Amino acid sequence: MIADERTAELARNLQAVRSRIERACADAGREPATLIVVTKFFGAADVHRLAGLGVRDVGENRDQEASDKQAECMDLDLIWHFIGQLQTNKAKSVVRYADLIHTVDRRSLVTALDKAAARLDKVQDVLIQVNLDPQVRPERGGIDPAELDALVEHVQQAASLRLRGVMGVGPLGEDPAPAFARLAQAAADVRRAQPAADVISAGMSSDLEVAVAYGATHLRIGTAVMGSRPTVGYRRSKGGKNNEGEAQ
Ligand SMILES: *Cc1c(COP(=O)(O)O)cnc(C)c1O
Repeated sequence: MIADERTAELARNLQAVRSRIERACADAGREPATLIVVTKFFGAADVHRLAGLGVRDVGENRDQEASDKQAECMDLDLIWHFIGQLQTNKAKSVVRYADLIHTVDRRSLVTALDKAAARLDKVQDVLIQVNLDPQVRPERGGIDPAELDALVEHVQQAASLRLRGVMGVGPLGEDPAPAFARLAQAAADVRRAQPAADVISAGMSSDLEVAVAYGATHLRIGTAVMGSRPTVGYRRSKGGKNNEGEAQ
């Protein structure tokens, strides 16, 4: 385990986030929700630090970055979550390393992921992303809740995909509660079609308590653990060095 100042910072942040989650789950009378630490923009060295601190679930939102980083973390026993908007031409790449893909939101993507998973002889776990904006905004990803049932059926027909639940991103600059209530409704609709699909991925650094109150089972936490994201993007480390310079 790496013992340096950055590790100490991550340890402090993790402790604070874990106690927020514990308190929120206790208030809701629920089992502890799973913490996914969103490591986008931060290098593989930080992922190693997190693993040393007991983190098991990490989240990434861009294929190139995630695939490079995962290759540098083969020695770690981690669960990789893909949480970003996904183009169909990236399906083949993402199924190689993602344990759970949170952002399935259209038929063409279902078809592409199913084909890619079949080619690897893999059953790919997926969530359907539901758009939670009061007026559906396609550029933010997620299916219109009105079209959810049809997409659920499509995923169920995909032999190499396994539907595990739903995912949502709280609307920008609005009260997250009504949005997470809509997601809870969508989750109930999905469970009616597929009872074992009990995952609700919702809640970020600023709204995790509200998400837990509305049933979130998986929380995607970036900033509150990692600190502010750097403006310079992640670049693959060269020659075994990490990219800390860029990632702070
Ligand atoms: C970046 C990201 C998060 C984490 O957001 P924070 O506010 O930094 O906690 C969660 N979900 C998705 C889809 C993201 O892209």
